[in-house]
Amino acid sequence: MTSQTPVRHIVSLSGGKDSTALAIYLRGRIPDLEYVFCDTGEELPETYEYLAKLEVFLGKEIKKLKARQSFEDMLKARGGFLPSGQVRWCTEYLKIKPFEEYIGDSSCHNYIGIRADELHRKGYISTKPNIIAHYPFIEDDIKKEDVVRILDESGLGLPAYYEWRSRSGCYFCFFQQKNEWLGLLKNHSELYEKAEGYEKENPETGERYTWSQKESLKEMRSPERQKAILEEYEHRRARQQQPKSNLTLVTLFNAEEANEESCLICHL
Ligand code: SF4
Repeated sequence: MTSQTPVRHIVSLSGGKDSTALAIYLRGRIPDLEYVFCDTGEELPETYEYLAKLEVFLGKEIKKLKARQSFEDMLKARGGFLPSGQVRWCTEYLKIKPFEEYIGDSSCHNYIGIRADELHRKGYISTKPNIIAHYPFIEDDIKKEDVVRILDESGLGLPAYYEWRSRSGCYFCFFQQKNEWLGLLKNHSELYEKAEGYEKENPETGERYTWSQKESLKEMRSPERQKAILEEYEHRRARQQQPKSNLTLVTLFNAEEANEESCLICHL
């Protein structure tokens, strides 16, 4: 007689607002719900703080999964070749593989926090046949304002990094806008420096590995570039802005979210 492995139900958390709201939304609706966060080891301190608060709210452990190798070791093994929007080895090795290894061959229902107002959104998730993806916010027509309400009502609110950054994920994430890099410089200069240290230039060939296209973090931190980046950001924001009375922190980030092709497992 073979014993059957129970079917698992897992919410994938990124440390962002949507997956956090989903964890809260599903609490009590699905028995034995598990909460999982794939920790790259390169997350923002605010992410860990937010997850710790969520853990208290849920009254249940959030399982932190780590890859077998650190980011630095992986980077060394790739000759310093930084991940990018085109070659996202970080997502595969730091986020998806640890999750798939954790699930193994067991049947798993995986709940993902894409909202009903972002059906256009796509990105990397596991494609293993035993991992079945569910989108409860789409099924239940939960939109951004509902997510904000769920977070407000729980007392958690938005993650603190939303004051200067529009999405969760590693502090060096290459999906960051330039103004967000400056937000990192202002709020976590030591992490900016660390990210800067990963950039490389071959003086002989001129070949460069930089996080942001066409510009290194060293170049970006010059006072002239900072001024220009912030001015450009303000212009962009002014173009996107609705009447001031309707503005909230969340609406400010709408346009940036709409442009992204980032990874669902990192940025929900
Ligand atoms: S948050 Fe960005 S840098 Fe980190 S694993 Fe995801 S895509 Fe890569």
